[in-house]
Amino acid sequence: MRNAVSNVLDRVVLGASPTRRLWFARRMPDSYIRNVQKSDFRTTIRWVARRSAFYRRRFAEHHIDPVMVRCPADLGDVFTTSEDLLTNPIEDFLCDRPQIGYETTGTLSAKSKKIFFSLDEMGDMGRDGAAGLHALGIRRTDRMVSALDLSFWNAGAALRAAAQALGCLLIEAGKISPAEFHERALDYRFDVMVVEPSWIVSLTEIAEKLGTWPVKLMLVGGENMSEKSRRYVEEVWKTDLYLTYGQTESFGSTGAECVRKNGYHLQELKFWFEIPDPDEEGNGELVFTTLSRRTMPLLRYRTSDVTRFLGGTCDCDLKSLRRISKIRGRCDEMVNWGSGTSAPGCSSVCSRTCRGSRTTGRFW
Ligand SMILES: [Zn+2]
Repeated sequence: MRNAVSNVLDRVVLGASPTRRLWFARRMPDSYIRNVQKSDFRTTIRWVARRSAFYRRRFAEHHIDPVMVRCPADLGDVFTTSEDLLTNPIEDFLCDRPQIGYETTGTLSAKSKKIFFSLDEMGDMGRDGAAGLHALGIRRTDRMVSALDLSFWNAGAALRAAAQALGCLLIEAGKISPAEFHERALDYRFDVMVVEPSWIVSLTEIAEKLGTWPVKLMLVGGENMSEKSRRYVEEVWKTDLYLTYGQTESFGSTGAECVRKNGYHLQELKFWFEIPDPDEEGNGELVFTTLSRRTMPLLRYRTSDVTRFLGGTCDCDLKSLRRISKIRGRCDEMVNWGSGTSAPGCSSVCSRTCRGSRTTGRFW
């Protein structure tokens, strides 16, 4: 949960303007990001200590005084896992009245995790998302189509909020068959396509035979995509394809590629990211704490995704935001793909996209 100063800055100073948000993002010193993280982290800790039965129990079990907690490391061995979300009553996580909810698989369990948010948090996601779309070159005059699965999944809703904040046209096709999409999309001449990796490979195979149309860029997520598949899609459509990273638990994209296509820039003003136990090359499980959420904040959520923080500075507009590498694997040996999960090997659909790379990426 945000502290009052961060809230005023986000809502009043930056407001809804994507260009103002980007102007600020270009100039943010690292010290500003770290200070916002520290103050919002402390506010979040106090908030969950008052409102969440689950975290109150965890603090008591680990003899943690929330007042003394200043950073994630102060929580010692306290993490939040997928198992926690599946085995505890969801009410134990809720700190405020939920208004919207989604499901996510993300585990080997047949049961889905349920994650709840407020409309205010949806608005937050939209403003940040609009700035991210603008950074990639999407403008109000563009015609965007979403072929994301809309059933119980937050990806489509998060994109809708971003498109509304940006002000561009958005048509939601849903995850219909690539053949039907190709036939129906021709009339619209969409120039921005937001899709899932395996689906866009299938659409591209059709478009190679039946024809493409001019596309400014594509955004994909929900699964990992090999560079070979990316090149194939880009060559056929003569466009750029950018990957994003996130999960339902984070309510959308926590990281996105910039025009350099070299790692995901992280949304560090809304999340505190850690890799608590990296190997000698820096690879380890990505863990995040939500810093702006009131409804269902998560402390040190274990994503099971293995990655590393990238060194050096990117020369793009988002250079003040650190980057992680593409996801290198899963701690739980599970493969995520757009319509669910598989283990331990790739599904037939997934293998068309990742082509056996066994790496995963998630989206929104
Ligand atoms: Zn960059």
